[in-house]
Order: sequence, then C-alpha cells, then structure tokens
Amino acid sequence: MDIKNCIFCKIIAKEIPSDIILENDDILVIKDLHPKAPIHYLIIPKKHIVNIKELHDADLLNAAQIMIAARELSRKLSGDGSFRLIMNNGADSGQSVFHMHCHFLSGKKMLDF
Ligand code: AMP
Ligand code: ZN
Repeated sequence: MDIKNCIFCKIIAKEIPSDIILENDDILVIKDLHPKAPIHYLIIPKKHIVNIKELHDADLLNAAQIMIAARELSRKLSGDGSFRLIMNNGADSGQSVFHMHCHFLSGKKMLDF
C-alpha cells in the first residue's frame, strides 16, 4: 500500500472521518472501527512508515512517540490502569493497514495471549 492509497494517511489528512482521541504534530490517536475491547484505540504516527521492518533509525522518534502517547492515554484509565499494546508487522501477524500503528487495548481482562 503506497501513501496515496493509505487509509491512515487519509484519516490523518481528515479526508476520511474518524473518532479522534488525541492529536499532536507527530501522532494521531483514534478509536478502532472494530473494537476488540471496551477501550480500543489506534496510535498512529503521522509519518507514513509501513511497519517496524521498514523503520529507519531517523524514524526512531516517531516510534518513541507511540510510547509517549500510550503513557498519556494510560493516565486517563480508571481501575488499575492496565492496558495492552499490540503492533502487527506483516500480513501473517494480522497487519491489515500498512501504515505503522499500535493498538491500545484496555477495559477488560486480557489474560490470554
Ligand atoms: P491491523 O490489522 O493491525 O493492521 O490494524 C488495523 C486496524 O484498523 C483494525 O483493527 C481495523 O479495525 C482498523 N480500521 C480500519 N479502518 C479503520 C477506520 N476507517 N477507522 C478506524 N479504524 C479502522
Ligand atoms: Zn499512510
């Protein structure tokens, strides 16, 4: 998937609507369209990077911004503040949108792996 046809680039450009939770210069956090938990956000670096396999050293700050956003989201959680981060890399892992992103899941017990 190139940048031109990338659904997340279109969401970042506001060409496609989304439910925005958090936004800054580097990151967009939206609600997942098909939530797998009561809280299911997608943390999406605005730069089009396919996945971790394609991550250049120069993009490390974009990757680190995912953790910074997760920390900010986690501080708003109730209960014991547990959450899970998932990044799929490659089709066989379940990656369906080839613009690097991290799933932020919370609000239920996730003791399976
Ligand atoms: P992955 O399968 O790891 O690539 O994750 C892609 C995620 O994007 C899936 O969980 C989809 O439900 C979600 N998704 C796809 N299109 C949209 C959209 N337009 N708005 C919000 N989430 C989306
Ligand atoms: Zn993209």
